[in-house]
Amino acid sequence: MKARDGMYIGGRWCPARGTDTIVVVNPATEQVIGEVPAGTAEDVDDAVRAARAAFPGWAATRPAERSVRIAALRDALAEHKDELAATMTAEMGAPIGFARNVQAGVPIRVAASFAELAATYAFEERTGNSRVFLEPVGVVGAITPWNYPLHMMVAKVAPALAAGCTVVLKPAENTPLTAQLFARCVEEAALPDGVFNLVTGLGPVAGEALATHQDVDLVSFTGSTAVGKRIGAVAGGAVKRVALELGGKSANVILPGADLAAAVKVGVASVMNNSGQTCYAWTRMLVHTDQYDEAVELAGKAAARYVPGDPTDRENRLGPVVSAKQQARVRGYINTGIEEGARVVVGGAETSQPTGYYVEPTVFADVTPGMTIAQEEIFGPVISILRYQDEEDALRIANGTVYGLGGAVWSRDESEAVAFARRMDTGQVDINGGAFNPLAPFGGYKQSGVGRELGTHGLSEYLQTKSLQL
Ligand code: NAD
Repeated sequence: MKARDGMYIGGRWCPARGTDTIVVVNPATEQVIGEVPAGTAEDVDDAVRAARAAFPGWAATRPAERSVRIAALRDALAEHKDELAATMTAEMGAPIGFARNVQAGVPIRVAASFAELAATYAFEERTGNSRVFLEPVGVVGAITPWNYPLHMMVAKVAPALAAGCTVVLKPAENTPLTAQLFARCVEEAALPDGVFNLVTGLGPVAGEALATHQDVDLVSFTGSTAVGKRIGAVAGGAVKRVALELGGKSANVILPGADLAAAVKVGVASVMNNSGQTCYAWTRMLVHTDQYDEAVELAGKAAARYVPGDPTDRENRLGPVVSAKQQARVRGYINTGIEEGARVVVGGAETSQPTGYYVEPTVFADVTPGMTIAQEEIFGPVISILRYQDEEDALRIANGTVYGLGGAVWSRDESEAVAFARRMDTGQVDINGGAFNPLAPFGGYKQSGVGRELGTHGLSEYLQTKSLQL
């Protein structure tokens, strides 16, 4: 499958109205690997019109037919898995093994789950003398980030399609080639023209135009909290539905008696995978004071095994971060951590690679809850280890940020871990390394977001409710 030039609007590949382009840079080589149109408000308008025109027909299709189309999309993603993985490695630096298994593998599972849900979901309910219909919201504006580019697109587009909505997608500037390949997969799935549309472009131009477009009924946004707040405010002003998946500063709480070696190893992996560019990464490790020194030593050794290097090499587990800007930002946070008195166990702001936007895997000890590196999302391979005195202290620290996206609890006693997790102000918690579940609702408490993705909760975001009293 060849990536196609241009944007995909109304079932056709077309050039942008303007002449501006976005240059795509490989973060490992610093070489330009592609160029895509920088769409404008006019292009967004064309795409929204196409989506609006397609909406009545798509909304009226039987759910079983929508299921067949989403299953075809799943098949296309599976068929082109290698190419999708290689494109993500080239665009954002995910090591190829991780790109295949997670960056490409998870969206295939998610697409399959929505094909199944479209066929089985109860779009009509009865209560008393009422028939309750769950109807598609309308035209969806989907705005996605670069860190899990394909997953974020599928986690919005597949449930929107299952619900009977039509979509305009504005992907992140750093990963538009993945978006073009995704649009090719949608094309192969033979959806009616205009049901899915792609506009590549800059956030403040094409993204802003989509988020503020009067004929978009729901904006589903994943990205930074700063932009999410703005989109939420605009949507509120227009009385428009909005779903926001934002940043995180998740806590990995290791209770006394837990398997410390496993908890530290999995905790470090959670941050080093994808070079720390995972919104729910467990970037704060909370350890009881009696086990603190041992945990710090284990974490330092585990992190040092992630040697930064060429992401196309199957042996490498730590690629570059996505861009020079992101590299500078992460190194800035490392320097702030040092200035504020945290202790570097391994890593630091210097990089050993002459080319590429690499950051050394970095472990900070002696981090206190008020420090910048314990409060703000760094989005790099940097982990902070904090000390707690007792369970109440651990809970205070775990809940002591503006975020509440992910988290982990480790304990010898599962019921103790569950009880602790229930007191955490966060959207999802993995107990003793519980596996990812594509049907589990995903989303944030507090400033980590509004709404949920995945599974039935994710599907219901794209539905509105009508009751008929008989
Ligand atoms: P970002 O907010 O800069 O960009 C995200 C998307 O929004 C991009 O497509 C961008 O072009 C667009 N955008 C930027 N400005 C806009 C504007 N004014 N109007 C409309 N759209 C605009 O974030 P990013 O740097 O691409 O992604 C990293 C952030 O995303 C991190 O904070 C991370 O935690 C968060 N994230 C959250 C989740 C989640 O599920 N909660 C998942 C992945 C990433």
